Amino acid sequence: MREASCTLDQGFSVFTVIGISHSANTDQAEANVPEQLISRMVAQDIVHILEIVQVQEYHQLTEVFTAPIMRLKTVDQQDLGGIMYSDSHSHLDGYTDEQMATLLAEAKAREVEIVIGVGSDLDRSEATIEVARRFPGITVAVGIHPWWATPADLERGARLRQLLSQKEVAAIGEVGIDLEKNPSTGDVQWPVFEMQLGLARELNMPMLLHCKGAKKEMQDRLRKESSVRGVMHGFAGTAVDAESWMELGLYIGIGMRTLTRNFGPEVQQAIQSIPLDRMLLETDSSVRSYTGEENLQPTTVIEVAERVGRMHGVTGQEVGRLTTANLRAMLKR
Ligand SMILES: [Zn+2]
Repeated sequence: MREASCTLDQGFSVFTVIGISHSANTDQAEANVPEQLISRMVAQDIVHILEIVQVQEYHQLTEVFTAPIMRLKTVDQQDLGGIMYSDSHSHLDGYTDEQMATLLAEAKAREVEIVIGVGSDLDRSEATIEVARRFPGITVAVGIHPWWATPADLERGARLRQLLSQKEVAAIGEVGIDLEKNPSTGDVQWPVFEMQLGLARELNMPMLLHCKGAKKEMQDRLRKESSVRGVMHGFAGTAVDAESWMELGLYIGIGMRTLTRNFGPEVQQAIQSIPLDRMLLETDSSVRSYTGEENLQPTTVIEVAERVGRMHGVTGQEVGRLTTANLRAMLKR
């Protein structure tokens, strides 16, 4: 599937085709194919369709697309070990053990993997590593969030490095620049980000990036790197914005807040333009959102998958499965 998308200009269209064809509920998928695809895609956008799974949908697809279909092939579903969905960004420090056990049991029952527990500063990163030690299956991101960056952090490189060397840790995050919420601390945020960017390069770790009010500056900076790995977390922007982050090599993180408080026609268009093989799902949940009014928790990722699925004309399960495979690929060294 990955191979197919790489050779195409319009990978998203092909992924949608494969996604629909992969649907467990074939009746529903077939019914959805022509209508959804015609309304959402322009057939000429597609250069070639390399792979279509499930022959019974082939005729419908040839009616819709004018592009040549190169090959008809059955693609096996990737084995994700019974996991359907993954939350690529949740803050796991601060829960009681009882709350954490409940959270994990609910997630497991609903086929959600809470993949990345994200740190916000060094103490909370360390606390998240402790959580991952008590509750296996959680991968940790260690980092200093731009909201909490202080001049003293510049002296804490050794501790950061030590935390990053723990076996539970596979990413650097949450890191970046926020000049919307904290415009006055930009002078501190940049060197703290720079320090963490250097570690990501040196340790070949993906970064979970936070960027508000500094898109151009951050992109200019990242372009100087020979390669960038990671995700633009909590994406809310236009299709052009999404494209510019993807060009840098980043995945785009879509969460519930992207689909609620930050949502609008432009964001919807952006989500539809992001190929499903470049997307991660997330909740950005924390003990505050879990117990508070917002009621975000890792299983909220299922709702995110369903909403994204409706925009892409595929099932929520398909979005979950693809984004879980993306997340695993991102974390691979
Ligand atoms: Zn976060």
